[in-house]
Amino acid sequence: MSMVENRSTSEWKDLDRNHYMHPFTDHKDLSERRSRIITRAEGVYIFDSDGNKILDGMSGLWCVNAGYGRDSLVAAAANQLTELPYYNSFFQCANPPSIELSRVLREITQAQFNRAFFAGSGSESIDTMIRMVRRYWELMDQPERQIIIARKNAYHGSTVAGTSLGGMKAQRAQGGPTLPGIEHVDQPYWFGSDQTLSPEEFGLQTARTLARKIDELGANRVAAFVAEPIQGAGGVIIPPDTYWPEIQRICDEYGILLVTDEVICGFGRLGEWFGADHYAVKPDLMTFAKGVTSGYLPLGGVMVGDRVGDALIDKGGEFFHGYTYSGHPATCAVAIENIRILQDEKLVDRVKSDIGPYLQKKWHKLIEHPLVGETRMTGMMGALELVASKKPLQKFDSQQGVGTICRDFLVNNGLVMRAVGDTIVVAPPFTLSYEEADELVNKAWKSLDLTQAAVDNN
Ligand SMILES: *Cc1c(COP(=O)(O)O)cnc(C)c1O
Repeated sequence: MSMVENRSTSEWKDLDRNHYMHPFTDHKDLSERRSRIITRAEGVYIFDSDGNKILDGMSGLWCVNAGYGRDSLVAAAANQLTELPYYNSFFQCANPPSIELSRVLREITQAQFNRAFFAGSGSESIDTMIRMVRRYWELMDQPERQIIIARKNAYHGSTVAGTSLGGMKAQRAQGGPTLPGIEHVDQPYWFGSDQTLSPEEFGLQTARTLARKIDELGANRVAAFVAEPIQGAGGVIIPPDTYWPEIQRICDEYGILLVTDEVICGFGRLGEWFGADHYAVKPDLMTFAKGVTSGYLPLGGVMVGDRVGDALIDKGGEFFHGYTYSGHPATCAVAIENIRILQDEKLVDRVKSDIGPYLQKKWHKLIEHPLVGETRMTGMMGALELVASKKPLQKFDSQQGVGTICRDFLVNNGLVMRAVGDTIVVAPPFTLSYEEADELVNKAWKSLDLTQAAVDNN
């Protein structure tokens, strides 16, 4: 039973243009074009209102880890909505799904994580984390520790706090002053550097920009360092192996909190439950969202390590923070079922040692294409760098919009991947079959050919 009228494609497109304001969109530009209307999905495919079948190489927006068409996730939501559709966790109340999800999360996270705080999205979980970090240092009688250090080009959501913590220049420049007390250090983007250092040296050097920044600000003023294990929206920036151990060492040396934003890397994307596990770092807090429910319902949160959790409890005093939908029973029920699916179908292992390595091997073959200057992938999260020339390495003028040209060919050929400048990123569902992996890479190759032809004709 659908609550939505059965309209024609052109009717949907007109209504969309006139009434629906899209996120992260140039509204003038969109009003001159039309949206693609996605009507249904199954497995790793989405279908549009014209009947096109498109391989979803982005898992929606990095979230549909368990794939589309999961009846048990639908049932989990429906059953919970029937039993108890909503009740809040304020005023000494709780509900079974939110408690049970906290228990399950404790089991799949590192030993220091015994508690979870829930929000409605990744951006909200970032807001929670920022307030919790600062609250922690107040409780520790070091209220001057306010500054949170993140990285250039990082994406941490688009609320005021998410925008402030994020390091994307264009985003930060809009909407007036960002939050005070936030600083940014370099991202470990070797391909984007002048490539004079080896990746290992570059990783160390980039990590050490954090130590320099702390010294410059005064160590007694710094509260935390926050980073994604692998930057997602920033272009799947996979750090050299030397990077994270050095970051951990610096955070330990200065005693600041280490926070990993696991909104994309969490719930199996890198072949471990969390990105911190993949890089063997020990965060004090982890923010999560997206893959926690495979996107079936909106949920985010913060895993609270004992260092912070014990302080909040032992020192007492109300933490004036939380959301109407913190611990929403239906979203928590879906998350529990989603984690059960990931466990029972061994999907995280599949990313690590089966379809992950298979897709990586095929993906790296794309380096043979004349347009591709680098391929990279960890788990099921990867990128291609489009270049004008490989030897000597020459990038395209960003004004040419080669990434966008390629992205449009991709979708017209039945494959969704995203363009971040001239970097093409990919993050398919973990249920991808071998045949579907072949299809993904073949369609990518064909679209690269078409992109090449379009660039040559210009
Ligand atoms: C998507 C994302 C967010 C924001 O999540 P929303 O649910 O869109 O608010 C935060 N951090 C990272 C790393 C993300 O990828």
